[in-house]
Amino acid sequence: MSAEVRQFLCASDNFGVLVHNPATGATASIDACEDGPIVAALEREGWTLTHILVTHHHDDHVAGIPALKARYDAVVIGPAADAGRIPDMAQGVREGDAVRVGGLVATVIETPGHTQGHVSFHFPAERLLFAGDTLFALGCGRLLGGTAADMWSSLSKLAALPEDTDVYCGHEYTLSNARFAVGVDPDNERLRARAAEVEEKRRRGEFTLPTTIGLEKATNPFLQAADPAMAHRLGLDGRPPVEVFAELRERKNRG
Ligand code: ZN
Ligand code: FE
Repeated sequence: MSAEVRQFLCASDNFGVLVHNPATGATASIDACEDGPIVAALEREGWTLTHILVTHHHDDHVAGIPALKARYDAVVIGPAADAGRIPDMAQGVREGDAVRVGGLVATVIETPGHTQGHVSFHFPAERLLFAGDTLFALGCGRLLGGTAADMWSSLSKLAALPEDTDVYCGHEYTLSNARFAVGVDPDNERLRARAAEVEEKRRRGEFTLPTTIGLEKATNPFLQAADPAMAHRLGLDGRPPVEVFAELRERKNRG
């Protein structure tokens, strides 16, 4: 089964993402920041929205739902834990649930940390991951509802997916993430090359996503929290990965 994916900006730095199955015509929007750019993208492609897959309840991921629901009557699917906080939600999902989008099948991965209820959607056959505000290119979401332990465990689950999985995220934050990453992992050659590429892409106004699980494992400092060399650089020799992760998150918040 093949899927077509379209990525575009919503509001200032949110990504809108559409996943389309040409065989059945089904089209899902991953989150719904605002309706205008999503409707425009659908009309550009000649697609009709059938599903909205919601990663978490924050306004910049759900504000567009009521208008899209009114226009297309799409089925809204989101974290069961966030029932009542997501407009028009018809189906609440949990870890391991299968979500069907007209012939495409996603597996739900619970990824608390940014919020307590946050979920990610993994389409194993298409090698696609929609990570919302959990994993970002060279970064991760802020802890606005879950703990550092939650986020570290969520990131570890995502890092265990096949390395050739394409990863789509909720925001274009990569430039700020890249500058932070080089600061805490200065001798990582692959990271330095990627950071230079990110600077160049943003200068040209290009997106830096999607990324891949393999690229993030090699360059994202938040995925290096179990590496003794990272612990050492932060002055945390011998400390558990979750403490190293928490320190990285704290430093990024301050930076
Ligand atoms: Zn959020
Ligand atoms: Fe967000």
